[in-house]
Amino acid sequence: DLRVALEKDQLRLVYQPCVDASSEAVTGFEALIRWDRPDHGPVSPTEFIPVAEESGLILQLGRWAMDQAATTLARWDQETGEKLPLYVGVNLSAIQVARDDIAAVVSSALKSSGLTGDRLTLELTESSIVQDPVRATRVFDALKALDATVAMDDFGTGYSSLAYLQRLPIDVLKIDKSFVSGMMIDPDAVAIVRAVLSLAEALGMSTTAEGIETVELATTLATLGCASGQGYYFAKPLEADAALEYWKSRRRSQ
Ligand code: C2E
Ligand code: MG
Ligand code: MG
Repeated sequence: DLRVALEKDQLRLVYQPCVDASSEAVTGFEALIRWDRPDHGPVSPTEFIPVAEESGLILQLGRWAMDQAATTLARWDQETGEKLPLYVGVNLSAIQVARDDIAAVVSSALKSSGLTGDRLTLELTESSIVQDPVRATRVFDALKALDATVAMDDFGTGYSSLAYLQRLPIDVLKIDKSFVSGMMIDPDAVAIVRAVLSLAEALGMSTTAEGIETVELATTLATLGCASGQGYYFAKPLEADAALEYWKSRRRSQ
């Protein structure tokens, strides 16, 4: 069914804003894939991405998502008649890193959309490094050569290796939402978030907290020095048009 969905263009991307902690400006949007499976209803990407990975469809799916996200941002630029001060974040699976030519996929999306590399953030996970660190290093370096931003997604949930963190050109650590949502009830979660923030600062990286659902979390994270955040408190992932409207309305109120 997933193969058919890819062929028949039944997948779509939604866009969740990322908000700067101090200015509250929207700095970019993370593209998240959605599948409304005919006769079944919506299927979560946490369910079908693993299926795509096992079947090898993730390569095709990943290229589609890359192209689609870049096309959407380029279309927003055209519609508003300006180069928007926004990036789009695209998730990359470890299987793509291991098996696809990521640099070629990204350059081709840049070429066909006309975007410059600085408008893209690629979100990779720690699992893309552990299997083949040499290959991962080449991929990270190639992304930097294209001027793209590299973010470590779900940081702290995988096989965190501080050696790779130091060696690889990583721009942003994304603090996993399991730590963020635990902060209000669990002092240990706060300790972990603090530690990640100071690690990022020491290594000259920026930080994004995922899963901010309340104003208390937004304020606490900003006070702790987290640079930016995303979560239902700001907005759920939005359809492309609604995402652009969200950005416009936030800009007017700045
Ligand atoms: P992720 O990249 O860590 O994305 C963050 C997830 O947290 C998204 O789930 C988002 O909808 C959810 N989220 C954001 N704010 C909140 C909040 O305040 N509360 C709660 N409870 N959740 C929040 P989603 O969209 O279901 O995606 C799940 C995962 O699927 C993503 O995690 C990512 O690993 C994967 N994924 C999604 N789209 C793609 C894609 O195009 N390619 C690849 N390779 N993976 C993707
Ligand atoms: Mg992500
Ligand atoms: Mg994440």
